[in-house]
Amino acid sequence: MAIETLNPATGELIKKFEAHTAEEVKHKIDLAEEAFQSWRNSSFEERAKHMEKQADILENEAEKYGRIISLEMGKPLKSAIAEVKKCATVCRYYAENAASFMADEEIASGASRSLISYEPLGVVLAIMPWNFPFWQVYRFLAPALMAGNVGLLKHASNVPQCALAIEEIVRHAGFPDNVFQSLLIGSKEVDAVIGHPHVKAVTLTGSELAGSKVAEKAGQEIKKTVLELGGSDAFIVLDDADLEQAAEMAVKSRMVNTGQSCIAAKRFIVVESIADDFLQRFKQKMQALKTGNPLEEDIDYGPMARKDLAEELEKQVQDSVKHGAEIVLDGGREGNSNAYFKPMILKNVKPGMPAYEEEMFGPVAAVMIVKDEEEAIRVANDSRYGLGGAVWTKDRARGLRVAKRVETGAMFVNAMVASSPEMPFGGIKKSGYGRELSYLGIREFVNQKSIWID
Ligand code: NAP
Repeated sequence: MAIETLNPATGELIKKFEAHTAEEVKHKIDLAEEAFQSWRNSSFEERAKHMEKQADILENEAEKYGRIISLEMGKPLKSAIAEVKKCATVCRYYAENAASFMADEEIASGASRSLISYEPLGVVLAIMPWNFPFWQVYRFLAPALMAGNVGLLKHASNVPQCALAIEEIVRHAGFPDNVFQSLLIGSKEVDAVIGHPHVKAVTLTGSELAGSKVAEKAGQEIKKTVLELGGSDAFIVLDDADLEQAAEMAVKSRMVNTGQSCIAAKRFIVVESIADDFLQRFKQKMQALKTGNPLEEDIDYGPMARKDLAEELEKQVQDSVKHGAEIVLDGGREGNSNAYFKPMILKNVKPGMPAYEEEMFGPVAAVMIVKDEEEAIRVANDSRYGLGGAVWTKDRARGLRVAKRVETGAMFVNAMVASSPEMPFGGIKKSGYGRELSYLGIREFVNQKSIWID
């Protein structure tokens, strides 16, 4: 893929970027290693000072950076600004907590003293997607730098200005040179970076295919990986749910980022006794959403991030309908020339259909009607993915019981799935492994060293 800014709302090519050459990449890796050798010895106070400054920049200049996000990947400006501000929260969280998360942990043993010492690994490569082009990066960047690691970012090829903007913010925050650099490279160049001896670990947020390729190479090199991959989150509506609230949140959770979120609700599993009522409310609220140019005020969703993604989603819908899925709300593409896709609701979604088996990375809701709670859990678990999920019921104890039985990295009772700095985030099954955020996230890329003193 070309490294370029192509406005998905208009199809206009705004700017093309020259990829870094293999020599330039090697030089940047050397600079990163050199930066690590002093950054690893910096105090938590110093790291936190820069991280707080970075949070200030993100808050104060959220609109400037939000415009870059909207321009490159099409999300409404207000959501883009909110995303930039959310990045400030993760910077502050790790600025405040990293010292305690990384503190020596005394362990009772047969030694006169024994402890776990948490130490940085070195240069970590982050391969990131375009859908939350700031938040995904900051989820990595904040804990990595606070732990004393240094970062190299290979961002998605359609968001190069976001990649460069983040590099600029890190610089303006006063971090030492080269503790965080963007590599403008295509995915074919990634193997050479993973293979470089200075690169100690890799984190990837993206598709299942990219995850398996990166993990394969990292496995050959015996390098640690964290994979945050796709999801097909279940949104379970039980018979005792507050249907008005559930329908409202169903729309929000399906349509977040024009449906292009790993933790968007994708499979709506609804108990039959309340299915008609729920579907009617869901459809009515979905129909009321407004679209337009992402930079306009007052729109609910923009175009998808690329035309080819809209085409792929259209194929998944056509294939599902061909195999018997029923259209409850019609939408989709108007013509072939752009990346806009109007929301759709499908019901009667069955095994074998793309809407059942695959991730639908855009504004299409797949509804499955089930007999009861037991069948809802079975259908929720009948997925190759295991990222997040939600259950709606007025009975919190029942909600917890269901939450514990759904095979995912996160479950939400009466709330939509979302990430927040203090809670671990990550998946099981084909959604990947490892955790970001919380104290678990900062410990992914550290040496958890045992020290035994006799
Ligand atoms: P993608 O095509 O996998 O791209 C993600 C990143 O991986 C990009 O930087 C891409 O670079 C790179 N890449 C692709 N193939 C690669 C390869 N063979 N070797 C090395 N790098 C490679 O995914 P996407 O379409 O941007 O994002 C959508 C997917 O990400 C969805 O499945 C979504 O669910 C998932 N996602 C997961 C999470 C999570 O936290 N679990 C969060 C957000 C998104 P190029 O752009 O240059 O191809």
